[in-house]
Amino acid sequence: MTAAISVRDLTRIFPGRRGQGDVQALNDVTLDVARGETLGIVGESGCGKSTLARLLVRLDQPTSGSITLEGADVTQLSDRAFRNYRREIQMVFQDPYGSLNPRQSVGRTLGEVLDVHGLATSRSQRRARVLELLAMVGLGPYFSDRLPRQLSGGQMQRVGIARALAVEPSVLVLDEAVSALDVSVQAEVMNLLVGMREELDLTYVFISHDLGMVRHISDRVAVMYLGRVVELGSWKQVSDEPLHPYAEALQRAVPVADPELEKGEIEAPIKGEVPNPADPPSGCAFHPRCPLAERICSERRPELVEMTPGHSVACHVVEREFARAERASSPPGMR
Ligand code: SF4
Repeated sequence: MTAAISVRDLTRIFPGRRGQGDVQALNDVTLDVARGETLGIVGESGCGKSTLARLLVRLDQPTSGSITLEGADVTQLSDRAFRNYRREIQMVFQDPYGSLNPRQSVGRTLGEVLDVHGLATSRSQRRARVLELLAMVGLGPYFSDRLPRQLSGGQMQRVGIARALAVEPSVLVLDEAVSALDVSVQAEVMNLLVGMREELDLTYVFISHDLGMVRHISDRVAVMYLGRVVELGSWKQVSDEPLHPYAEALQRAVPVADPELEKGEIEAPIKGEVPNPADPPSGCAFHPRCPLAERICSERRPELVEMTPGHSVACHVVEREFARAERASSPPGMR
């Protein structure tokens, strides 16, 4: 696997407010995203996924750890190299309206990005590129003159994607990019993203609280809980055979077409609240909510361990059960 992005031991600690302890928003996260791959990041609010997104696009700085893009350490870039990096990796936000100037037409917004990065040398070239970008996201040329308030949510998000594409990035970080859209529009924008990935050879980091959404677009999925990756595997491994009790609960929370359930009802919501990150539980941070928790869980933090090829989990009980099954299946003399 050629890694486009490598994240090593990434940690972000925010100083505590009003007498509270420091908040460890991200805790020793290690991940690789291969070129052309979509890595889905899933977890409840407060799990650190948006902090990770902001660090990847360098809207924030890590407390420790490293991020490399195509082998270059992003946290140590010179000003010039940093400008190039900002072109290579772009972010699409959940609320496109909040990130667009309400008084500026779509064409002007896109044109401005081209100007800032020196990507258009004449008015006609700029205009042609704006229309090309609109076409790439399925919007006609007349959208160029529209103001943000004249757009639907889906159209606005398409403009957000066009703006990210304007600088010809190789990586898009999509932070809850379709979560606020109606279900039918979500499907349209997801299809657009899948098509663009193939056509433009893009790499995606797709962040969402919804495992159902993440598995539709991702090659691999990382499940995060309270700042840590607790499970990592192919979308099929995480979605169809989740190992971590939290990933299993997320999987059960994906709405299913079951006539026994009321519309919109989920089979088994995760009990309890996400703990306060300024005062995290000891050991495994999931233990107060975990149906399998044992004594060791509150005493020692489990590390992420590969259980089957490409499928890793951070859980004492799963690790022990795998070790037990392995012993049972080995020849008698080797147990
Ligand atoms: Fe549950 Fe313990 Fe595994 Fe944590 S380590 S997920 S508390 S069983």
